[in-house]
Parts: sequence; structure tokens; C-alpha cells
Amino acid sequence: MNDDASARAKWRLETLAVHAGHAVDPGTGAISAPINLSTTFERARDGTYPSGYVYSRSNNPNREALECALAALEGGTDASAFASGIAAGLAIFQSLSPGDHVVMPSDAYHGMTKLVRDLFLRWGVEASFVDMTQLSTVQEAIRPSTKLVWVETPSNPLVKIVDLAAVARIAHEAHAICVCDNTWAPVIQRPLDLGADLILHSTTKYIGGHCDVTGGVVIAKTAGAAFTRIREIQGTAGAVPSPFDCWLVLRGLRTLPWRMRAHTGNAASVATFLASHPRVECVHYPSLASHPGHEIAAKQMSSFGGMIAFETKGGSDAALRTAAKTRLFLRATSLGGVESLIEHRASIAGEDPRTPQSLLRLSIGLEHPDDLIEDLDQALS
Ligand SMILES: *Cc1c(COP(=O)(O)O)cnc(C)c1O
Repeated sequence: MNDDASARAKWRLETLAVHAGHAVDPGTGAISAPINLSTTFERARDGTYPSGYVYSRSNNPNREALECALAALEGGTDASAFASGIAAGLAIFQSLSPGDHVVMPSDAYHGMTKLVRDLFLRWGVEASFVDMTQLSTVQEAIRPSTKLVWVETPSNPLVKIVDLAAVARIAHEAHAICVCDNTWAPVIQRPLDLGADLILHSTTKYIGGHCDVTGGVVIAKTAGAAFTRIREIQGTAGAVPSPFDCWLVLRGLRTLPWRMRAHTGNAASVATFLASHPRVECVHYPSLASHPGHEIAAKQMSSFGGMIAFETKGGSDAALRTAAKTRLFLRATSLGGVESLIEHRASIAGEDPRTPQSLLRLSIGLEHPDDLIEDLDQALS
């Protein structure tokens, strides 16, 4: 290991986020990496590829830099970047064979559930959807053919907390791999340290961080067979991000640890305000002692994240009226950007009917928390 590598190995997350995947461009001295749009790379006269790059679907400098940075940030050995979070999930399920069984949370991100139900069940993959907050239910769902256990925590939209280490143990006892969708908690939750084998992120959310790029990634703890197959699928199936998308995600990543601090600080203030508001029925946010997952969240997360769900008194009408009255919160889906968003989840087409009609989901941005609280206060009045 040279000096550079040993120094890097000791870097803390903030430093890694700024420097991993970045190098001064040797040709120009530019400290911001160029965007390499070339789809193809020249061979030397002896037929070899001196740069290691051949064709952009297989690899390119911007994607390689992003994958290196994302693996470093999550403490993994390697990463594979995709054109969206769903495309990253697609590659994971494509690595299975007909007859393989997966255990999924019953409140996984609705697009991921749809992917499994609408595509993979038809191709012979079997799936059980269970409440993962009950470990006995996860254990009971395991079959001899179980190859993969999928965890998403905090969950969407009910902000449920699953005991990651315990679920990973159940998966490993069954010789299955454990995949964690860590989209809601980058930096503040370290699934690979807790036993997960693979992490999925929709980099569209906190990692990109500015609602201007779509992307996804699979990060591996070790360079085992599961990741090797996913890397092959990345090139073979071709759901790859463009060099410009990779550049944007890598740019967003540089401020991620500091943004997460501000998102979570703001969310804690907003959750406390909502919890004492007379027009609010209940607040789903794990910092609150009333949250059923509070203790597990305190154990496995360094802070509680930027996503809040709350239920208004007066059902669907009251919830829609509240969303219609906000001036600062924007009425839009998605999450993890600098601007705060409010969404009536039950209105999203295809959403699980179990989503309460009175539920509003908030993605807390980087505005001043007092401005956010004042906006919600007037919208609830
Ligand atoms: C948005 C999201 C996804 C899907 O990612 P896309 O980039 O929209 O394809 C997957 N999981 C979670 C938890 C998400 O929030």
C-alpha cells in the first residue's frame, strides 16, 4: 500500500466524500474532472487498450470515478452504477434464476414491489412479502430455495424501522444474501457494517441531492459471486448511466455528509413541532420515543434521517387541504433534494392501498427549520 492509499484508508466520511473518485486531470491540471463523452477508446498498434477503456457501455472514466467514490463511502470493495435506482434493482433480480425465492418487505418502495410482481414472478422467481419489523415472520418466510432477503429501512412511506443486523443473520443462516436499500439513509446508516452483503441506492435522491439527475448503484461488501454477476449484467443488459449523469451524481456526493446533517437536524425540529400540533393525529419519525422502531433506529443509525410521515385529523380531505395550502413545501414526489417536498402518498397511482388516506410524506430540505415550521403551521390552520 503506498502512502496515498494508507492515508485514504483513515479518512473520515466528510473527507472521503470530497476526495474519493477525484484526481487532478493530468492533461490540463483541472481540479474538476472533465466529462468524457466518447463512446469508444483507441487501441494501441499491438491491439491492447492502454487506458483500460474499450467501449462506454462496458466502462468509462466518469462512471469508474463515481463507482470508486460510492464504494469508498459505504465501506464496500466495489460498486456498479446504473441509469436509475430501479435499474440497479433490476440487475440484482436478474442475477437470480427461475425457482429462486426472495423475501421482501411488505412496505418496500412501491416501484421495487412492482418490479418483482409484474416482471420477475412471470420469469419464475418466487417472492414472499412480509412485515420485517417482526423477525419471526421473516424467519417463517425462509424456504430452502431462498437466495435473497431484501431490507429497506427506514421504510417508505411509513418510516418503519427494521433490525438490519438481525435480518442479515437470518439470511446468512439460510445461505441467502442480504440486500439493503439504503436510499433513505446514506452516511447515517452503514448496512455493510451491520451484515448486509449488497447495498442499493437510488442516487436520484440524497446522493445526487438536487433533483436534477436519475441514477442508481449496487455496492458490494466483498467481490464475491453475487457482485461479479451484477457487474456482468451491467454491461450485458446495458441499463447504464451517461457520463454526464455520473459527473452530476459524483458532484452531489461531495457535500452529502454535511447535507445529511442539516436534513436530519431540520427533520427533528419539524417532527417535534408536528407531534404537538392539535390537528395532527400522529407523526412517523424514529427520533420520537413514541415511534415503535425508536430503539433499533438509535442503535443502527447515527441520526434519524430527513423523511417524516404524519397523519392529519380529518382523513383524506384534511390531508389534501393541508398539502394544497403550503407555500414553501413543493407538492411533488421524490425526496432527498435541497428543497422541501410534501406528498399525499395515497394519491400516487399503484400505491399500496394500505397507505393511510390521511398520510402526508415530507422530504425535509435545507431551508431554515423555522420557515418550514411556519409554513406547516399556516397550512394546518
Ligand atoms: C426512489 C427510490 C427507488 C427507485 O429509484 P429510481 O431512481 O426512482 O429508479 C428505490 N428505492 C427507494 C427507497 C426509493 O426511494
